[in-house]
Amino acid sequence: MKAIVVRQPGGVEVMNLETVPDPQPKARDVVIQVEACGVCMHDVAVRDGTLRRGVQMPNILGHEISGTVVAVGSDVKRFRAGQRVTTVQRYHICGACRFCRSGYEPLCAEKKFTGDWGMVGGYAEYVAIEDDNIAEVPDGVPLAEVAIAACAIGTIFNAVRDVGKVQVGEAVLVTGAGGGLGVHALQVANAFGAYVIAQTSSPQKVAIMKANGAHEVIVHARGEDFSPQVMAATKGLGVDVIIDNVGTPQFTPTRKSLAKLGRWLMIGQLTGDFVPFNPAQLFLRGQSMLSVTSTTRAQLEDVLKLVQRNILRPVVDKSFALDDARTAHQLVESGQVTGRALIRPWQSAASLAA
Ligand SMILES: [Zn+2]
Ligand SMILES: [Zn+2]
Repeated sequence: MKAIVVRQPGGVEVMNLETVPDPQPKARDVVIQVEACGVCMHDVAVRDGTLRRGVQMPNILGHEISGTVVAVGSDVKRFRAGQRVTTVQRYHICGACRFCRSGYEPLCAEKKFTGDWGMVGGYAEYVAIEDDNIAEVPDGVPLAEVAIAACAIGTIFNAVRDVGKVQVGEAVLVTGAGGGLGVHALQVANAFGAYVIAQTSSPQKVAIMKANGAHEVIVHARGEDFSPQVMAATKGLGVDVIIDNVGTPQFTPTRKSLAKLGRWLMIGQLTGDFVPFNPAQLFLRGQSMLSVTSTTRAQLEDVLKLVQRNILRPVVDKSFALDDARTAHQLVESGQVTGRALIRPWQSAASLAA
């Protein structure tokens, strides 16, 4: 099969189209013909060497996968050839440890992140993923766009429903609201009945943020303190919940935007930088920082139901053929994609342009 293989970290030139052996199903594997694979900032961090933990090269990038089952291993009961499926971000968990058995399988010590560890990834014509990590796509839902259901929507769904426990009428700030997670965070927070404030330094993305559920959009220059605008939008109280897709680069203005008893959901971290911080700044105001991990299979299944009912909608910007994967990375790295870009391994550049 054809796949984009990375043999050592570097710029986009380390992504090469190669012919590699087709995956053969082991007992728990489901072999998927890839319809689409989302291009995530995570992929860029793996490719350029920023992320090294859990990475083993050579690898095939890509963990946001949808497609059609073509073969299953001998122990697979839930899937058969011809089914339409999408995956969580992992291809292996142990299935037996306390995390796997209590709805926290992203924390399994044995987990292997798809696209990071070895030649199992979605920038390829086929991929083999163990059945624990796969969900069936409901009827009527377009297959390509739900490639991003787990990572771009499910992570946020986990944040809003399960970690942040957002309540109707609460004020929610989404930082980095124009990015792939951000634009879906606006949708999910809106669906949970929140008053949704989007923060961005990209004025050209205001319309799409409003179309995705933002009640208020705060646009400011990069590096500027936006917390006075958040305070103005919340009558001086601050927001009850922050869905933080940015982290260190705007740590202080984000902190200053949080209300008393507020929950700060840590999702994204755009740099490797540390930040000076006094814990009393949080606990004297009864505030909490909470960690959001990647998506469980149950959360993915819930997201798919909401997509089927048109309550949530995957936002896909552009699609690229496999041999245009370098271009896709360049656009994602430079922040020129709203929502997600997709790799479409079975489509030619000409057919995608048409
Ligand atoms: Zn992702
Ligand atoms: Zn486990």
